[in-house]
Amino acid sequence: MSANIIDGKEFAGGLREKIAQSVKDLRDNHNKVPGLAVILIGNDPASEIYVRNKGIQTKEAGMNSHEFKLPEDTSEEELLSQVEELNNDPEINGILVQFPVPKQISQQKVIETISPLKDVDGLHPINSGYLNSGLEGLVPCTPKGASMLIKANVNDLSGKSAVIIGRSNLVGKPVAQLLLKENCTVTICHSRSQNLKDISSAADILVAAVGIPELVKGDWIKPGAVVIDVGINRIDAPEKGENKTRLVGDVDFNAASKVAGFITPVPGGVGPMTIACLLLNTLNAFCEQNNFEKPSLDF
Ligand code: NAD
Repeated sequence: MSANIIDGKEFAGGLREKIAQSVKDLRDNHNKVPGLAVILIGNDPASEIYVRNKGIQTKEAGMNSHEFKLPEDTSEEELLSQVEELNNDPEINGILVQFPVPKQISQQKVIETISPLKDVDGLHPINSGYLNSGLEGLVPCTPKGASMLIKANVNDLSGKSAVIIGRSNLVGKPVAQLLLKENCTVTICHSRSQNLKDISSAADILVAAVGIPELVKGDWIKPGAVVIDVGINRIDAPEKGENKTRLVGDVDFNAASKVAGFITPVPGGVGPMTIACLLLNTLNAFCEQNNFEKPSLDF
């Protein structure tokens, strides 16, 4: 058997087009568009690329992008006061602080200072509380993207066995909550879990969010399962030449795609959904803050 490849790049592109259309309608009808503020502290090259891509895609969707670059030695007080200023700015509907932040700044304090209404990363305890209670709030972008890809490919999730490997607040736990909301029977595994192979091979839906290259082997997968690989790992690729690298996920894609029914590739699977869902969260936050009806793009 050869799995159907879930093309996250194409799906995310379609979603961004629908978001852009909604933004255009808002501009035409209300003469207003959403504004997203992204704060980057320091010069981490990977973070700079993420922030640049977020800015480009925000503008492509017709929204206003506000980028703030702060020096590496920014104090916690300075950053929090910048966040407070954006909380009070009516032109800003979503605030994202690019993580990781330098060590003198508490990531948790940053998360808790962002207004829950503008928390487009969905990490504020109020928003995670809403998610855990099955209520509407802002949901972290990568889990939301992963869940959309699953729902687009599985008609009825009710009663399905879902195994999530990874329990971070950023990915594993919110994915588990989203699948619980769809009435899956959810198992969360982590670094102390025993018998990962046995647990995984009972899953109708297997989500890997670990950060270990190709941890999940082909014989961990139930034939026909939906496999969602959230991991992004850079490994050496001597076959491409000296000092070359390539990206792989947390799943051994070649082996897994011979067994699974559906599988996301890395790159081009869950990854592109993250910024698309960031834009969707910003659009929804804008509508909430302005008492406009939200477009029905979430599912
Ligand atoms: P994290 O380090 O915060 O969490 C990793 C989780 O994996 C932990 O809960 C840990 O208990 C578990 N774990 C570690 N070793 C394990 C093992 N041997 N067996 C089982 N579980 C184990 O990482 P994260 O932020 O959740 O990210 C996970 C992966 O997803 C990373 O590769 C990251 O780069 C990727 N990621 C991708 C996107 C995206 O697609 N845009 C976004 C966020 C994270």
